[in-house]
Amino acid sequence: MAMNRVQFQPGLSMPEFYQRYATEAQCQAALQLARWPGGFVCPKCGGAARTRFVRCGLPYWQCRACAHQCSLISGTMFESSKLPLSRWFLALQLLSQSKNNVSALELKRQLGVCYRTAWLMKHKIMEAMRLREESRELDGRVEIDDAYLGGERSGGKVGRGSENKIPIVVAVQTTPDGQPVIACLRQQRHTAEEVAVFAAQHLATSATVVSDGLWCFQATKLIGAEHQRIVTGSGKQAVKLPQFKAVNTLLGNLKTAIGGTYHAFAFAKYSHRYLAEFQYRFNRRFDMRAIFTRLLHALAAAPACQEHRLRAAEVYR
Ligand SMILES: [Zn+2]
Repeated sequence: MAMNRVQFQPGLSMPEFYQRYATEAQCQAALQLARWPGGFVCPKCGGAARTRFVRCGLPYWQCRACAHQCSLISGTMFESSKLPLSRWFLALQLLSQSKNNVSALELKRQLGVCYRTAWLMKHKIMEAMRLREESRELDGRVEIDDAYLGGERSGGKVGRGSENKIPIVVAVQTTPDGQPVIACLRQQRHTAEEVAVFAAQHLATSATVVSDGLWCFQATKLIGAEHQRIVTGSGKQAVKLPQFKAVNTLLGNLKTAIGGTYHAFAFAKYSHRYLAEFQYRFNRRFDMRAIFTRLLHALAAAPACQEHRLRAAEVYR
């Protein structure tokens, strides 16, 4: 049997991780390099001349031009965190190298922090992932499908009538012979209006969109994309069609990853971030070693995000 290219690739092992990021000084140096690869740049005026000092164990810079003071973490997703960076780095390692998603509860156990802290870390990391994937665009052959997530484990109704069900649209760019390349997942209703917005934001005009018979996907033509509508019948018959293999496999993996990790109600409230986490990891699945560093760059580049903003449910577009 052929080895699975994704599952058997070398990632960043724990011994290697501890070799690189065991001390606070190592983590600070790595974050500084991620934030200012060409040396300090004043966030206020863009000046490079600075004096450096340390306060409470954290490096600070003062701009010589405008006197603005800036710590290593201020203005990044790490801002206002009291935790040592080494704890953050361990969270990044766990979230980027685990095969399955890691919940806030598991993060709490693994890091030895309280649940609120673990929740905040997890959501800040997912928010940084979401920002990185926000402008994702698919081109070429794209399989697209509608689905509902969550609600199955709440004891309520199952199916489209359940109030906990989150409508999503999933699109997978494939090679011409149907191998999945990259994906885009969004929480949204299955209407022509919302599919048109999805298409404008995430599909190239040169894409060829393949969908089942659901009428709303015709709206992808509004941006100039080609649309192939394949009327499948319903249920298991559609799942077997080779034209939808990539999107159906992805949906199966998504349901396993989310159903096995997150409580349905928590998922429903923050689904945009959980979907972004899945999408971020899926789109980088061929280079597990690089995900850690890329995630560190994402957190360094993301603006600070306060707890009340993270806790607010998504404002629907
Ligand atoms: Zn300045």
